[in-house]
Amino acid sequence: MEQANFPVEKVNTRCCVAGGGPAGMIAGFLLARAGVDVVVLEKHADFLRDFRGDTIHPSTLELMYELGILDEFLRRPHQQLPQVGGQIEDVTVIVADFSHLPTHCKFIALMPQWEFLNFIAEKAKAYSQFHLRMESEVTELIEENGRIVGVRAKTSQSILEVRADLTLGTDGRHSVVRAKAGLEVVDLGAPIDVLWMRLTREPSDPDQTLGRFRAGKILVMLNRGDYWQCAYVIQKGGLEEIRQKGLVAFREDIAGVAPFLRGRMGELKDWNDIKLLTVAVDRLRQWWRSGLLCLGDSAHAMSPVGGVGINLAIQDAVAAANILTESLLRGTVRDEQLRGVQERREYPTRMTQRFQVFAHKHLLRPVLSQKSQIRRLPLGFRLLQLFPTLRRIPARLLGLGFRPEHVRTGDTRSQISTMKGNVGMQERGG
Ligand SMILES: Cc1cc2nc3c(=O)[nH]c(=O)nc-3n(C[C@H](O)[C@H](O)[C@H](O)COP(=O)(O)OP(=O)(O)OC[C@H]3O[C@@H](n4cnc5c(N)ncnc54)[C@H](O)[C@@H]3O)c2cc1C
Repeated sequence: MEQANFPVEKVNTRCCVAGGGPAGMIAGFLLARAGVDVVVLEKHADFLRDFRGDTIHPSTLELMYELGILDEFLRRPHQQLPQVGGQIEDVTVIVADFSHLPTHCKFIALMPQWEFLNFIAEKAKAYSQFHLRMESEVTELIEENGRIVGVRAKTSQSILEVRADLTLGTDGRHSVVRAKAGLEVVDLGAPIDVLWMRLTREPSDPDQTLGRFRAGKILVMLNRGDYWQCAYVIQKGGLEEIRQKGLVAFREDIAGVAPFLRGRMGELKDWNDIKLLTVAVDRLRQWWRSGLLCLGDSAHAMSPVGGVGINLAIQDAVAAANILTESLLRGTVRDEQLRGVQERREYPTRMTQRFQVFAHKHLLRPVLSQKSQIRRLPLGFRLLQLFPTLRRIPARLLGLGFRPEHVRTGDTRSQISTMKGNVGMQERGG
Protein backbone atom coordinates (compact mmCIF):
# COMPACT_ATOMS: atom_id res chain seq x y z
CA MET A 1 0.00 0.00 0.00
CA GLU A 2 1.24 3.54 -0.81
CA GLN A 3 2.13 5.42 2.35
CA ALA A 4 -0.22 8.24 1.41
CA ASN A 5 -3.07 5.71 1.64
CA PHE A 6 -2.09 4.40 5.04
CA PRO A 7 -4.75 4.69 7.74
CA VAL A 8 -4.16 7.41 10.33
CA GLU A 9 -4.00 6.28 13.93
CA LYS A 10 -4.60 9.04 16.46
CA VAL A 11 -3.29 8.98 20.00
CA ASN A 12 -3.57 11.59 22.76
CA THR A 13 -1.13 11.72 25.63
CA ARG A 14 0.43 14.17 28.06
CA CYS A 15 4.00 13.74 26.81
CA CYS A 16 5.23 12.42 23.48
CA VAL A 17 8.89 11.34 23.51
CA ALA A 18 10.46 11.21 20.03
CA GLY A 19 13.38 8.74 20.18
CA GLY A 20 13.98 5.82 22.53
CA GLY A 21 17.68 6.23 23.33
CA PRO A 22 19.07 6.84 26.84
CA ALA A 23 17.51 10.34 27.13
CA GLY A 24 14.08 9.31 25.81
CA MET A 25 13.76 6.04 27.69
CA ILE A 26 14.81 7.51 31.04
CA ALA A 27 12.50 10.52 30.53
CA GLY A 28 9.63 8.19 29.61
CA PHE A 29 10.31 5.91 32.58
CA LEU A 30 10.54 8.74 35.15
CA LEU A 31 7.43 10.52 33.88
CA ALA A 32 5.33 7.34 33.75
CA ARG A 33 6.59 6.37 37.20
CA ALA A 34 5.33 9.72 38.49
CA GLY A 35 1.92 9.17 36.90
CA VAL A 36 2.29 11.11 33.62
CA ASP A 37 0.88 9.44 30.52
CA VAL A 38 3.78 9.06 28.05
CA VAL A 39 4.15 7.71 24.52
CA VAL A 40 7.75 6.93 23.46
CA LEU A 41 8.28 6.58 19.69
CA GLU A 42 11.38 4.67 18.55
CA LYS A 43 12.11 4.21 14.87
CA HIS A 44 13.95 0.88 15.16
CA ALA A 45 12.29 -2.46 15.85
CA ASP A 46 14.64 -3.20 18.76
CA PHE A 47 17.51 -1.65 20.72
CA LEU A 48 20.07 -4.03 19.20
CA ARG A 49 22.66 -1.80 17.62
CA ASP A 50 26.41 -2.20 17.85
CA PHE A 51 27.51 1.34 17.45
CA ARG A 52 26.10 2.65 20.69
CA GLY A 53 28.34 3.44 23.65
CA ASP A 54 28.53 0.98 26.51
CA THR A 55 29.34 3.15 29.50
CA ILE A 56 27.01 3.49 32.49
CA HIS A 57 28.62 6.00 34.82
CA PRO A 58 28.61 6.12 38.64
CA SER A 59 26.09 8.99 38.58
CA THR A 60 23.68 6.93 36.45
CA LEU A 61 24.21 3.95 38.77
CA GLU A 62 23.40 6.28 41.68
CA LEU A 63 20.12 7.16 39.96
CA MET A 64 19.36 3.44 39.76
CA TYR A 65 20.01 3.25 43.49
CA GLU A 66 17.62 6.16 44.10
CA LEU A 67 15.02 4.37 41.97
CA GLY A 68 15.51 1.12 43.93
CA ILE A 69 16.58 -0.90 40.86
CA LEU A 70 20.37 -0.95 41.22
CA ASP A 71 20.75 -4.52 42.54
CA GLU A 72 18.60 -5.90 39.75
CA PHE A 73 20.49 -3.85 37.17
CA LEU A 74 23.85 -5.14 38.39
CA ARG A 75 22.63 -8.72 37.95
CA ARG A 76 22.61 -8.10 34.17
CA PRO A 77 25.84 -9.00 32.31
CA HIS A 78 28.32 -6.17 32.66
CA GLN A 79 31.90 -5.43 33.57
CA GLN A 80 33.05 -3.09 36.29
CA LEU A 81 35.76 -0.55 35.55
CA PRO A 82 37.12 0.89 38.83
CA GLN A 83 39.79 2.81 36.92
CA VAL A 84 40.06 4.22 33.43
CA GLY A 85 43.34 4.23 31.60
CA GLY A 86 45.03 3.73 28.32
CA GLN A 87 48.11 2.29 26.73
CA ILE A 88 50.46 4.82 25.22
CA GLU A 89 53.00 2.92 23.11
CA ASP A 90 54.06 0.22 25.62
CA VAL A 91 53.23 2.12 28.80
CA THR A 92 49.91 1.56 30.59
CA VAL A 93 48.65 4.74 32.23
CA ILE A 94 45.79 5.23 34.69
CA VAL A 95 43.88 8.44 34.20
CA ALA A 96 40.87 8.19 36.53
CA ASP A 97 40.34 6.27 39.76
CA PHE A 98 36.71 6.03 40.91
CA SER A 99 37.40 4.47 44.32
CA HIS A 100 36.84 7.76 46.20
CA LEU A 101 33.58 8.86 44.63
CA PRO A 102 30.73 9.59 47.08
CA THR A 103 28.44 7.08 45.30
CA HIS A 104 27.30 3.52 45.98
CA CYS A 105 29.11 2.24 42.88
CA LYS A 106 32.70 3.28 42.58
CA PHE A 107 33.10 2.10 38.99
CA ILE A 108 31.82 2.54 35.45
CA ALA A 109 29.61 -0.37 34.41
CA LEU A 110 30.25 -1.49 30.84
CA MET A 111 27.04 -2.88 29.46
CA PRO A 112 25.98 -3.02 25.80
CA GLN A 113 23.40 -0.28 25.35
CA TRP A 114 20.69 -2.67 24.20
CA GLU A 115 20.92 -4.43 27.59
CA PHE A 116 20.58 -1.10 29.36
CA LEU A 117 17.64 0.09 27.24
CA ASN A 118 15.86 -3.25 27.47
CA PHE A 119 16.21 -3.09 31.23
CA ILE A 120 14.76 0.44 31.40
CA ALA A 121 11.93 -0.55 29.03
CA GLU A 122 11.09 -3.52 31.26
CA LYS A 123 10.98 -1.31 34.37
CA ALA A 124 8.95 1.39 32.61
CA LYS A 125 6.38 -1.10 31.30
CA ALA A 126 5.41 -1.82 34.90
CA TYR A 127 3.57 1.52 34.78
CA SER A 128 0.30 1.66 32.89
CA GLN A 129 1.06 5.24 31.82
CA PHE A 130 4.09 4.11 29.79
CA HIS A 131 3.52 3.28 26.11
CA LEU A 132 6.49 2.32 23.96
CA ARG A 133 5.88 2.25 20.20
CA MET A 134 8.74 0.62 18.32
CA GLU A 135 9.14 0.99 14.53
CA SER A 136 7.55 4.42 14.72
CA GLU A 137 9.66 7.03 12.98
CA VAL A 138 8.85 10.66 13.67
CA THR A 139 8.71 12.57 10.40
CA GLU A 140 6.85 15.78 11.23
CA LEU A 141 5.86 18.07 14.04
CA ILE A 142 2.25 19.17 14.41
CA GLU A 143 2.05 22.90 15.03
CA GLU A 144 -1.00 24.95 15.92
CA ASN A 145 -0.96 28.70 16.59
CA GLY A 146 2.84 28.70 16.99
CA ARG A 147 2.81 25.85 19.52
CA ILE A 148 4.02 22.29 18.92
CA VAL A 149 1.11 20.02 19.83
CA GLY A 150 2.52 16.65 18.80
CA VAL A 151 4.16 14.67 16.02
CA ARG A 152 3.41 12.52 13.01
CA ALA A 153 5.26 9.25 12.69
CA LYS A 154 5.28 6.48 10.13
CA THR A 155 4.96 2.86 11.10
CA SER A 156 4.90 -0.15 8.78
CA GLN A 157 1.11 -0.02 8.55
CA SER A 158 -0.09 3.43 9.50
CA ILE A 159 0.56 7.10 9.96
CA LEU A 160 0.60 7.69 13.67
CA GLU A 161 -0.51 11.08 14.93
CA VAL A 162 0.38 11.69 18.56
CA ARG A 163 -1.03 14.82 20.22
CA ALA A 164 0.57 15.88 23.47
CA ASP A 165 0.89 18.80 25.91
CA LEU A 166 4.65 18.41 25.56
CA THR A 167 6.87 16.78 22.94
CA LEU A 168 10.40 15.77 23.94
CA GLY A 169 12.93 15.64 21.10
CA THR A 170 15.30 12.83 22.10
CA ASP A 171 16.13 11.53 18.64
CA GLY A 172 19.89 11.93 18.84
CA ARG A 173 22.52 13.86 16.94
CA HIS A 174 20.79 13.65 13.55
CA SER A 175 17.56 14.87 15.16
CA VAL A 176 14.59 15.27 12.85
CA VAL A 177 12.72 17.03 15.63
CA ARG A 178 15.20 19.84 16.06
CA ALA A 179 15.48 20.30 12.29
CA LYS A 180 11.70 20.43 11.82
CA ALA A 181 11.39 22.86 14.74
CA GLY A 182 13.91 25.18 13.06
CA LEU A 183 16.04 25.40 16.20
CA GLU A 184 19.42 27.03 15.56
CA VAL A 185 22.45 24.73 15.88
CA VAL A 186 25.88 26.01 16.99
CA ASP A 187 28.47 23.66 15.47
CA LEU A 188 31.66 23.37 17.52
CA GLY A 189 33.32 21.07 14.96
CA ALA A 190 35.04 17.74 15.52
CA PRO A 191 38.32 16.80 13.80
CA ILE A 192 37.70 13.06 14.15
CA ASP A 193 35.49 10.26 12.91
CA VAL A 194 35.37 6.69 14.13
CA LEU A 195 35.54 3.36 12.29
CA TRP A 196 33.64 0.68 14.17
CA MET A 197 34.28 -3.06 13.77
CA ARG A 198 34.08 -6.41 15.58
CA LEU A 199 36.91 -8.87 16.10
CA THR A 200 36.85 -12.20 17.93
CA ARG A 201 38.10 -12.19 21.51
CA GLU A 202 40.23 -15.17 22.57
CA PRO A 203 40.33 -16.38 26.20
CA SER A 204 44.06 -15.55 26.34
CA ASP A 205 43.49 -11.88 25.36
CA PRO A 206 43.84 -9.13 27.94
CA ASP A 207 40.41 -8.42 29.43
CA GLN A 208 40.72 -4.70 29.96
CA THR A 209 38.77 -2.17 27.97
CA LEU A 210 41.43 0.29 26.91
CA GLY A 211 42.29 3.09 24.58
CA ARG A 212 45.50 2.21 22.77
CA PHE A 213 47.74 4.92 21.31
CA ARG A 214 50.60 3.77 19.10
CA ALA A 215 52.63 5.58 16.44
CA GLY A 216 49.87 7.97 15.42
CA LYS A 217 47.05 5.42 15.69
CA ILE A 218 44.25 5.25 18.26
CA LEU A 219 42.19 2.12 18.88
CA VAL A 220 39.60 1.76 21.65
CA MET A 221 38.58 -1.82 22.42
CA LEU A 222 35.43 -2.71 24.35
CA ASN A 223 35.42 -6.19 25.84
CA ARG A 224 32.08 -7.80 24.91
CA GLY A 225 32.93 -11.30 26.14
CA ASP A 226 33.50 -13.36 23.02
CA TYR A 227 34.30 -10.40 20.79
CA TRP A 228 35.98 -7.00 20.84
CA GLN A 229 33.97 -4.01 19.70
CA CYS A 230 36.73 -1.84 18.25
CA ALA A 231 36.65 1.89 17.54
CA TYR A 232 39.48 3.13 15.34
CA VAL A 233 39.81 6.91 15.45
CA ILE A 234 40.60 8.67 12.16
CA GLN A 235 40.96 12.25 10.94
CA LYS A 236 37.58 13.71 9.95
CA GLY A 237 36.78 12.78 6.36
CA GLY A 238 39.81 10.45 6.27
CA LEU A 239 37.96 7.26 5.29
CA GLU A 240 38.36 7.72 1.53
CA GLU A 241 42.16 7.97 1.80
CA ILE A 242 42.20 4.85 4.03
CA ARG A 243 40.10 2.94 1.51
CA GLN A 244 42.37 3.97 -1.33
CA LYS A 245 45.35 2.50 0.51
CA GLY A 246 43.41 -0.79 0.61
CA LEU A 247 42.11 -3.27 3.14
CA VAL A 248 45.48 -5.00 3.58
CA ALA A 249 47.10 -1.74 4.71
CA PHE A 250 44.13 -1.03 7.01
CA ARG A 251 44.39 -4.45 8.66
CA GLU A 252 48.11 -3.84 9.13
CA ASP A 253 47.33 -0.52 10.89
CA ILE A 254 44.95 -2.24 13.33
CA ALA A 255 47.37 -5.10 14.02
CA GLY A 256 50.12 -2.52 14.56
CA VAL A 257 48.19 -0.93 17.45
CA ALA A 258 47.08 -4.24 19.04
CA PRO A 259 49.55 -6.93 17.82
CA PHE A 260 47.65 -9.78 19.55
CA LEU A 261 44.82 -9.22 17.03
CA ARG A 262 47.06 -9.91 14.01
CA GLY A 263 45.85 -13.49 13.41
CA ARG A 264 42.21 -12.30 13.30
CA MET A 265 42.54 -9.65 10.61
CA GLY A 266 40.95 -12.02 8.06
CA GLU A 267 37.64 -11.38 9.87
CA LEU A 268 37.66 -7.95 8.20
CA LYS A 269 36.70 -9.45 4.84
CA ASP A 270 35.63 -6.27 3.06
CA TRP A 271 34.72 -2.65 3.82
CA ASN A 272 31.18 -3.72 4.80
CA ASP A 273 32.70 -5.12 8.00
CA ILE A 274 33.85 -1.61 8.92
CA LYS A 275 31.25 1.07 9.73
CA LEU A 276 31.90 4.80 9.65
CA LEU A 277 30.47 6.84 12.53
CA THR A 278 30.74 10.55 11.97
CA VAL A 279 31.45 12.52 15.11
CA ALA A 280 29.77 15.86 15.77
CA VAL A 281 29.94 18.29 18.66
CA ASP A 282 27.21 20.89 18.58
CA ARG A 283 24.44 22.40 20.65
CA LEU A 284 21.21 24.25 20.17
CA ARG A 285 21.14 27.95 21.00
CA GLN A 286 17.63 27.42 22.37
CA TRP A 287 16.58 23.89 23.34
CA TRP A 288 12.83 24.51 23.25
CA ARG A 289 9.83 26.05 21.60
CA SER A 290 6.32 26.29 23.03
CA GLY A 291 5.23 22.68 23.54
CA LEU A 292 8.63 21.20 22.60
CA LEU A 293 11.90 20.50 24.43
CA CYS A 294 15.05 18.82 23.08
CA LEU A 295 17.23 16.73 25.39
CA GLY A 296 20.40 14.63 25.07
CA ASP A 297 22.26 14.59 21.75
CA SER A 298 19.30 16.21 20.04
CA ALA A 299 20.02 19.34 22.14
CA HIS A 300 23.80 18.85 22.18
CA ALA A 301 25.59 16.20 20.12
CA MET A 302 28.53 14.76 22.03
CA SER A 303 31.86 13.33 20.92
CA PRO A 304 32.76 9.83 22.14
CA VAL A 305 35.68 11.40 24.06
CA GLY A 306 35.41 10.52 27.74
CA GLY A 307 32.37 8.33 27.01
CA VAL A 308 30.12 10.83 28.78
CA GLY A 309 27.34 11.45 26.22
CA ILE A 310 25.00 8.77 27.59
CA ASN A 311 25.40 10.05 31.10
CA LEU A 312 24.74 13.64 30.06
CA ALA A 313 21.64 12.60 28.11
CA ILE A 314 20.32 10.72 31.16
CA GLN A 315 21.02 13.66 33.45
CA ASP A 316 19.04 15.92 31.08
CA ALA A 317 16.11 13.53 31.29
CA VAL A 318 16.20 13.50 35.10
CA ALA A 319 16.31 17.30 35.27
CA ALA A 320 13.42 17.57 32.81
CA ALA A 321 11.31 15.10 34.82
CA ASN A 322 12.09 16.93 38.07
CA ILE A 323 11.11 20.30 36.65
CA LEU A 324 8.13 19.31 34.48
CA THR A 325 6.30 16.43 36.16
CA GLU A 326 3.84 18.46 38.22
CA SER A 327 2.92 20.71 35.31
CA LEU A 328 2.51 17.71 33.03
CA LEU A 329 0.18 16.10 35.54
CA ARG A 330 -1.89 19.30 35.50
CA GLY A 331 -1.55 19.72 31.72
CA THR A 332 -0.06 23.22 31.92
CA VAL A 333 3.56 23.26 30.77
CA ARG A 334 4.79 26.85 30.47
CA ASP A 335 7.62 28.19 28.32
CA GLU A 336 9.51 29.42 31.43
CA GLN A 337 9.72 25.83 32.65
CA LEU A 338 11.20 24.66 29.37
CA ARG A 339 13.67 27.53 29.58
CA GLY A 340 14.36 26.40 33.17
CA VAL A 341 15.40 22.92 31.98
CA GLN A 342 17.80 24.45 29.46
CA GLU A 343 19.24 26.79 32.10
CA ARG A 344 19.82 23.91 34.48
CA ARG A 345 21.50 21.65 31.89
CA GLU A 346 23.36 24.19 29.76
CA TYR A 347 26.25 24.67 32.16
CA PRO A 348 27.21 20.95 32.38
CA THR A 349 26.77 20.69 28.60
CA ARG A 350 29.04 23.62 27.83
CA MET A 351 31.70 22.46 30.30
CA THR A 352 31.68 18.89 28.99
CA GLN A 353 31.86 20.03 25.37
CA ARG A 354 34.69 22.42 26.24
CA PHE A 355 36.59 19.48 27.70
CA GLN A 356 35.88 17.36 24.59
CA VAL A 357 36.94 20.08 22.16
CA PHE A 358 40.13 20.58 24.21
CA ALA A 359 40.85 16.81 24.07
CA HIS A 360 40.25 16.77 20.29
CA LYS A 361 42.68 19.63 19.80
CA HIS A 362 45.40 18.85 22.30
CA LEU A 363 45.30 15.06 22.55
CA LEU A 364 43.68 13.30 19.59
CA ARG A 365 44.71 15.56 16.72
CA PRO A 366 48.41 15.69 17.75
CA VAL A 367 48.45 11.88 18.15
CA LEU A 368 46.78 11.32 14.75
CA SER A 369 49.21 13.63 12.97
CA GLN A 370 52.21 11.85 14.55
CA LYS A 371 53.96 9.45 12.20
CA SER A 372 56.38 7.92 14.71
CA GLN A 373 56.28 6.63 18.26
CA ILE A 374 55.48 8.95 21.14
CA ARG A 375 58.85 9.12 22.92
CA ARG A 376 57.78 10.82 26.14
CA LEU A 377 54.43 10.71 27.92
CA PRO A 378 52.65 14.10 27.74
CA LEU A 379 53.03 16.13 30.98
CA GLY A 380 49.45 15.56 32.20
CA PHE A 381 49.87 11.76 32.02
CA ARG A 382 53.24 11.92 33.77
CA LEU A 383 51.71 13.92 36.64
CA LEU A 384 48.85 11.42 36.97
CA GLN A 385 51.36 8.57 37.25
CA LEU A 386 53.58 10.45 39.73
CA PHE A 387 50.73 11.65 41.98
CA PRO A 388 47.94 9.02 42.00
CA THR A 389 45.64 11.22 44.12
CA LEU A 390 45.33 13.51 41.08
CA ARG A 391 43.39 10.71 39.37
CA ARG A 392 40.44 11.60 41.60
CA ILE A 393 39.88 14.81 39.61
CA PRO A 394 39.23 13.17 36.20
CA ALA A 395 37.30 10.46 38.08
CA ARG A 396 34.90 13.07 39.44
CA LEU A 397 34.48 14.78 36.08
CA LEU A 398 33.96 11.52 34.20
CA GLY A 399 32.05 9.66 36.87
CA LEU A 400 29.68 12.36 38.09
CA GLY A 401 29.85 15.11 35.49
CA PHE A 402 29.58 18.81 36.23
CA ARG A 403 26.08 18.86 37.74
CA PRO A 404 24.80 15.46 38.84
CA GLU A 405 21.01 15.24 39.04
CA HIS A 406 18.93 13.30 41.57
CA VAL A 407 15.49 11.79 41.18
CA ARG A 408 12.92 14.04 42.88
CA THR A 409 9.75 12.61 41.38
CA GLY A 410 7.64 10.07 43.25
CA ASP A 411 6.51 6.59 42.32
CA THR A 412 2.76 6.42 41.69
CA ARG A 413 2.66 2.76 42.66
CA SER A 414 3.40 3.80 46.23
CA GLN A 415 0.75 6.53 46.17
CA ILE A 416 -2.87 5.88 47.01
CA SER A 417 -4.52 8.15 44.47
CA THR A 418 -3.69 9.01 40.89
CA MET A 419 -4.10 12.58 39.69
CA LYS A 420 -7.52 13.08 38.21
CA GLY A 421 -7.58 13.75 34.49
CA ASN A 422 -4.42 11.83 33.78
CA VAL A 423 -5.97 8.43 33.47
CA GLY A 424 -7.20 6.93 30.23
CA MET A 425 -5.48 9.48 28.02
CA GLN A 426 -4.87 6.89 25.30
CA GLU A 427 -7.47 7.22 22.65
CA ARG A 428 -7.29 5.70 19.22
CA GLY A 429 -9.22 6.76 16.15
CA GLY A 430 -9.49 5.93 12.48
C1 LIG B 1 31.27 6.67 17.75
C2 LIG B 1 30.61 7.11 19.02
C3 LIG B 1 30.84 6.37 20.19
C4 LIG B 1 30.28 6.80 21.40
N1 LIG B 1 30.57 6.11 22.54
C5 LIG B 1 30.07 6.56 23.72
C6 LIG B 1 30.32 5.85 24.94
O1 LIG B 1 31.01 4.83 24.97
N2 LIG B 1 29.77 6.34 26.07
C7 LIG B 1 28.98 7.46 26.07
O2 LIG B 1 28.50 7.87 27.15
N3 LIG B 1 28.71 8.13 24.95
C8 LIG B 1 29.23 7.69 23.76
N4 LIG B 1 28.94 8.38 22.62
C9 LIG B 1 27.98 9.50 22.69
C10 LIG B 1 26.59 8.89 22.92
O3 LIG B 1 26.31 7.89 21.94
C11 LIG B 1 25.47 9.93 22.88
O4 LIG B 1 25.85 11.10 23.55
C12 LIG B 1 24.20 9.36 23.55
O5 LIG B 1 23.82 8.15 22.92
C13 LIG B 1 23.04 10.35 23.46
O6 LIG B 1 21.84 9.73 23.88
P1 LIG B 1 20.44 10.22 23.30
O7 LIG B 1 19.40 9.41 23.96
O8 LIG B 1 20.37 11.69 23.37
O9 LIG B 1 20.52 9.90 21.73
P2 LIG B 1 20.73 8.50 20.97
O10 LIG B 1 21.49 7.54 21.79
O11 LIG B 1 21.26 8.86 19.64
O12 LIG B 1 19.24 7.94 20.82
C14 LIG B 1 18.34 8.50 19.91
C15 LIG B 1 17.25 7.47 19.64
O13 LIG B 1 16.27 8.06 18.80
C16 LIG B 1 15.95 7.17 17.74
N5 LIG B 1 15.52 8.00 16.60
C17 LIG B 1 16.27 8.74 15.78
N6 LIG B 1 15.51 9.40 14.89
C18 LIG B 1 14.23 9.06 15.17
C19 LIG B 1 12.97 9.40 14.60
N7 LIG B 1 12.87 10.25 13.57
N8 LIG B 1 11.85 8.86 15.13
C20 LIG B 1 11.91 8.00 16.18
N9 LIG B 1 13.08 7.62 16.74
C21 LIG B 1 14.22 8.15 16.26
C22 LIG B 1 17.24 6.40 17.48
O14 LIG B 1 16.99 5.16 16.85
C23 LIG B 1 17.76 6.23 18.91
O15 LIG B 1 17.25 5.08 19.53
C24 LIG B 1 29.46 7.97 21.42
C25 LIG B 1 29.21 8.67 20.24
C26 LIG B 1 29.78 8.26 19.05
C27 LIG B 1 29.51 9.05 17.80
